[in-house]
Amino acid sequence: MSVSDAFDEWARQGRDEGMEERHWHTAKHVLARMPVESGDVVLDLGCGSGYAGRALRETNGAARSYGIDASREMAHNARSYTDDENVAFVVGDFGHLPFDDDSIDHCFSMEAFYYAEDPHEVLAELRRVLRPGGTFYCAVNRWEENVHSHEWEELVGVPMLLWSEREYRAAFREAGFRVASQDRIPDTETEIPAAEAFPTEDWETREAMVERYREYGTLLTVGVATE
Ligand code: SAH
Repeated sequence: MSVSDAFDEWARQGRDEGMEERHWHTAKHVLARMPVESGDVVLDLGCGSGYAGRALRETNGAARSYGIDASREMAHNARSYTDDENVAFVVGDFGHLPFDDDSIDHCFSMEAFYYAEDPHEVLAELRRVLRPGGTFYCAVNRWEENVHSHEWEELVGVPMLLWSEREYRAAFREAGFRVASQDRIPDTETEIPAAEAFPTEDWETREAMVERYREYGTLLTVGVATE
């Protein structure tokens, strides 16, 4: 199944809103760190329900936000959650961003980058569309060090990238980004049941669930586009 077919199906089932709710635990911390100023143009790579563009307009006064998603149904749902004309949604692939060179100030992406067919091409595209000094906030909870994310490929049914923290930094640099920071953002909100509840349907032990959410959390790599 292609990524867009898989997410079209998710969107038709209304699962975009559930993702937003779960990802918001972490996304809000990422968004709060972004240096978006009033008047900036921002991009959300793999926007799903489109919450990030809405938030950056409302809280930072971004002049315009674009959400790009390969799934037509996701973009359709995202459009229906706002009537703000300066929150735009585009159906397209990360590998070919439909934007001019140097036209975007900052880019956010949550739980989407690992679906890229050619991640180096995506970083090169981002470097092209971001103005020098612009930033890419790339949040992923599937990566090499997070052992709990390794089996997801089978669950989702589409190929997924599994870079290490070092590989993310190296690829960012190779594409013309300076790595401003890289850290793990814990999810402190997902409820973890008491010890007696384990094993659960998803977790063998409470320790594993604590490790997944509270210790590994989400990997955030921040790149700054160089001159
Ligand atoms: N950022 C949202 C959605 C995450 S799900 C959130 O935090 O909830 C990942 C999204 O990325 C899906 O909507 C999927 O359709 C999109 N996506 C995956 N690969 C893509 C690609 N190559 N180009 C564009 N969108 C892609």
